[in-house]
Amino acid sequence: MPESIDRLGSAFRGELIQPTDRDYDAARKVYNGMIDKRPRLIARCVDAADIIAAVRYGGERGMLTAIRGGGHNGGGLGTCDGGLVIDVSRMKGVRVDPEARTARVGPGCVWGDVDHATHAFGLAVPSGFISTTGVAGLTLGGGIGYLTRRYGLTIDNLLSVDMVLADGHFVTANGSENADLFWAVRGGGGNFGVVSSFVFRLHPVSTVQFGPTFWPLEQAADVLKVYRKFIVTAPEDVDGFFAFLVVPPAPMFPEHLHRKTVCGIVWCGTGTSEETEKATRPMRSVGKPLLDAVGPAPFPVVQSTFDGLYPSGLQWYWRADNFTELSDAAIARHVEHGSTLPSMQSTMHLYPVNGAAQRVGRNQTAYSFREALFAEVIVGVDPDPANAGTITEWCKNYYDALHPYAAGGAYVNFMMEEGQERVQASFRDNYARLAIIKKKYDPTNFFRVNQNIKPAT
Ligand SMILES: Cc1cc2nc3c(=O)[nH]c(=O)nc-3n(C[C@H](O)[C@H](O)[C@H](O)COP(=O)(O)OP(=O)(O)OC[C@H]3O[C@@H](n4cnc5c(N)ncnc54)[C@H](O)[C@@H]3O)c2cc1C
Repeated sequence: MPESIDRLGSAFRGELIQPTDRDYDAARKVYNGMIDKRPRLIARCVDAADIIAAVRYGGERGMLTAIRGGGHNGGGLGTCDGGLVIDVSRMKGVRVDPEARTARVGPGCVWGDVDHATHAFGLAVPSGFISTTGVAGLTLGGGIGYLTRRYGLTIDNLLSVDMVLADGHFVTANGSENADLFWAVRGGGGNFGVVSSFVFRLHPVSTVQFGPTFWPLEQAADVLKVYRKFIVTAPEDVDGFFAFLVVPPAPMFPEHLHRKTVCGIVWCGTGTSEETEKATRPMRSVGKPLLDAVGPAPFPVVQSTFDGLYPSGLQWYWRADNFTELSDAAIARHVEHGSTLPSMQSTMHLYPVNGAAQRVGRNQTAYSFREALFAEVIVGVDPDPANAGTITEWCKNYYDALHPYAAGGAYVNFMMEEGQERVQASFRDNYARLAIIKKKYDPTNFFRVNQNIKPAT
C-alpha cells in the first residue's frame, strides 16, 4: 500500500480499494452499464469519521472526488476517472420513531431498505418509483414518486441532514441550524458536502391501490388529451404516471400482451379501493383499454415492482425536460416517438409533479420548477452494449422532438452530464443563491462531480 494511502488507512475503519485489488472491478461498477470509470481509490466508509478522513485526504491532495450513495445516477456522477470515490453504500441502517413519525436513515440505504423498515409501522417516506435507487442521490436532487401529489417531493419531507463539509467539518443542517445549507441541499444535489445521515417525516401509507391501465398505441393521443386535464383536477390521493412501454413477458400480464408496445398509466392510490376506483374512473374509461388491473398491494411491493425489469448493469441513456402543459402538437410528437421504442426496457414516462409538490414555492427549496405539471424522462435501455448507439439515438431524437414544447430546465436527477447551461436552466433564479452558499461551504469547488454549481465569484 503506498505510504499516503497507508496514512488514510490509520484514520479509516472501512475498506480502501485500489486498482490492484481483487475487488476493484466489482467496486468501481455503478448501476448504468454504459459508465466505465476507473477511480484511483475507492474509500468505502462505515461511519461519519471515515467520511471526514476521506474528505480531508482527498482535499489535501487536490484529488478529483466523487460521492457514491446508491450508484444509480444516470450520468455516472457517483464515480470518476483517476480520483477518489467516497463510497457511503455500506452506511445503512434505518431507525423509525413511530410516535414522532420520523425516520433516521443512513446514506447508503436504497429505498427498499427504508420501505422495509417503515412499513412495519404502517408508515412511508415519499420517494420514487423503484426500490433500488439510492436514498442519498434521489433525495438531494428532489425525489419524484408515487406519493408526490399527496405528500410532496422527498425533499418536502426531509427534516434534517448531518454532513461533512469540504474542509472536513461535521455539521447538522435543518430548519433552525445552518438553514442556508438546508435550503441548498433540498434540490442542489451533492454540491455542498457528504451527507452522513438523513431524517425524514413519515406518513401513514401501508396498503395502496396499485396497477396499470394499458391502451393500444392507436388510442395514445386520446388518452394523453384526457390525461393532461384529468391529472390537474384528480384528487391528490391518486397518482398515476403516463408511459409508453413494451409489456414485459411476466406472468402478471396476459400472454397476448407480452412484448407488445402500448401506452399506459401506472396508478397508485392512497385512498380506499372505492375512492381510487371512483377517482380514476374518468381516465380508466377512456377508449378501450387492453388491460385494467388496479388492486390492493403493500407499498413495499409497489415500490419493488420494476426492480426485476431493471437489474443493475444495463446500458442506459437519459434525457429529460419539465412541462407546464401538453399541447396537441406535443402529444403528436409523443405518439410518433413513443410508438418506436427501440428495446423492451426503453420507455418514456411523464411523472405528475403537482398537488402537494406545487404548494411549496419555487424559492422555498433549491428545487425550482414547482409550477411544472410533468417531469418527462426518456430512457433508452438495453442489456447489450452493442445496442448502445441505437438506444442513444432514439432517446436523443425523441428529446429533440419534444424539447421545443418544454418549460425549460429539467429534474437534475434525470439528466446526464449536459453542461452548465442546462444546470443553470434547471435552478433558474435559485442558481445565484446556490452559488453564494456554495462559495461559503465549498469555495474551491471540491465537490464538483455532480450537476455542478460553481462558487460565486
Ligand atoms: C432505475 C432508476 C430509477 C429511478 N427512479 C427515480 C424515481 O422514481 N424518482 C426520482 O426522483 N429519481 C429516480 N431516479 C433518478 C435518481 O434519483 C438519480 O439517479 C440519483 O442520482 C440516484 O441516487 P444514488 O444515490 O443512487 O446515486 P449515486 O450515483 O450514488 O449518486 C448520485 C449523486 O448523488 C450525490 N450523492 C450521493 N450520495 C451522497 C451523499 N451521501 N452525500 C452527498 N451527495 C451524495 C453525488 O453528488 C452523486 O454524484 C432513478 C434512477 C434509476 C437508475
